[in-house]
Amino acid sequence: MTSKNIQTLAIHGGYTPRNGEPSALPIAQSTTFYYESTDAVARLFDLQEAGFFYSRLANPTVDALERKIAAMEGGVGALCTSSGQAALFTAVITICRAGDHILASSTIYGGSFNLLGSSLKRLGIDVTFFHQNESSEEIARLFRPSTRLMLGETIANPALTVFDIERFATLAHEHKVPLLVDNTFATPWLCRPLDFGADLVMHSTTKYMDGHAIQLGGVIVDSGRFDWTCGNYPEFTEPDPTYHGTVYTRDFGSMAFLVKARAQTLRDYGCIQTPQGAFYTDLGLMTLPQRMDCHCRNAEKVAAFLENHPKVSHVNYPGLASSPDHALAQKYLPRGCSGVISFTLTGGRDAGARFIDSLELGSLEVHVADIRTCVLHPASSTHRQLSDSQLAECGIDPGLVRISIGLEHTDDILADLAQALDKA
Ligand SMILES: *Cc1c(COP(=O)(O)O)cnc(C)c1O
Repeated sequence: MTSKNIQTLAIHGGYTPRNGEPSALPIAQSTTFYYESTDAVARLFDLQEAGFFYSRLANPTVDALERKIAAMEGGVGALCTSSGQAALFTAVITICRAGDHILASSTIYGGSFNLLGSSLKRLGIDVTFFHQNESSEEIARLFRPSTRLMLGETIANPALTVFDIERFATLAHEHKVPLLVDNTFATPWLCRPLDFGADLVMHSTTKYMDGHAIQLGGVIVDSGRFDWTCGNYPEFTEPDPTYHGTVYTRDFGSMAFLVKARAQTLRDYGCIQTPQGAFYTDLGLMTLPQRMDCHCRNAEKVAAFLENHPKVSHVNYPGLASSPDHALAQKYLPRGCSGVISFTLTGGRDAGARFIDSLELGSLEVHVADIRTCVLHPASSTHRQLSDSQLAECGIDPGLVRISIGLEHTDDILADLAQALDKA
C-alpha cells in the first residue's frame, strides 16, 4: 500500500489479497498455527523470527487490523487489545513498574482515571493529575525523577477539552518521558497526534473506529521515535531473561516498545483482541472518514441549534466559537470536532429526565460514538445516587446532558431535540 491518504488506507491498509485469495479480510479463527519442524518453532519462541504460533501473541486477522491502524495513524506499528481499558493498561505496564510515576490530564475518561488513580496505584504505580489549562512552568513542577509517562486525550471524554499536543510533547520530552495521547474521540481522520510530536497513540476502538456499537477493542500505535535508551527505562535496555537475554532496544530498534508490549505484556496478561473482533473493527474502519465527516457536520448544526435555545443555559462543543478550546480545536481538529456535545438545561435534574424521556429518535445509552444518536443524563442515570450538591463537587450540573450525534438525517435529529426540549 503506497497511498498515504487515510480514505484509501481505511479500505486497503493492512491486508492485500494475492491471486485467488478472498477480497475481504479472512477471519483466522485458529488458536495455533502449524509448523513442520521444531527449529522453526524455536526461532519464533526466541523472537528471532516473526510469525504466528499462538493467538495470544499474534493472529493474522488481528495483525492486519494492526497494520491498517498503524498506517492510518502514521506509526511504525500497532498492537490491538481486548478493550480501550486494556490498551491503556498494556501501555502503562509495558513502560512502568512499581515505584514509577505518571502525569495524566485531569479530564481523562473516567475509566482511565480509575485505572490510574486506583487500580494501578495498588500495584505501586503513582499518578498525578494535572490541569491542562495550567502553564507549562506549573506543570513542569509536577514531574518527579520517577516520572515515566505523560498522557492526555485529544478530545476528552466527556469533558470535551482539547489537548495541546505540541505543548505537552515538548514538556514530556524535556523530562525524557514519552507522551501518550488517547485519540478515541478524534480518530486519525480528525487528528493524528504522532504528527504533532506524540510518541504513542491509543484508542478505545469500541467507539468511532468500530462505530456501530458491536465490538469492544483497543489499540496502541507507536511512532517508533521515543529514545528508550535515555537512561530511564532499564527494562528496555537490559536483557530479558524470559527471552534468552533479548535486549529490546538493541534487537528491535524503533519496534522496541511494540515487541516488549507483545512479548511480555500480551504474553503474561493476555488482554488480546480476537480474530472475529478484529474483523468487525476492520469493517467499521472502512468507512471511518466518511462517518466522521457526517458526525461532525451533524454535531455542528446541533451545537448551533442548542446554543440558541432558550431552555439551554450552556453548550460545550469545541467546534463552537464560544468554546474556550476553540483556538486549540482550529489547530488540531481542522476537519471537525467529532460528534459528542454536552449541554445544560436551565430546568435542572427534572428537566433533564423529562427531556430524555421525551426523545423519540435519540436513545438512552451508556455509549458514545455510535451511528445512532444516543444521550445520557448523568443526574438520572450514572450519577443518580448523588445529591445536587454532591454532583456539584464532581463538576456535573444536575441539568447536564451528554449527546452523541449519530448519522441520521440532520433535520430528524434537530426535530427530535426540539420536541423533547419543548417538554423539558
Ligand atoms: C471508552 C473509552 C475508553 C475505554 O474503552 P473501552 O473500550 O470501553 O474499554 C478509553 N478512553 C476513552 C477516551 C474512551 O472514550
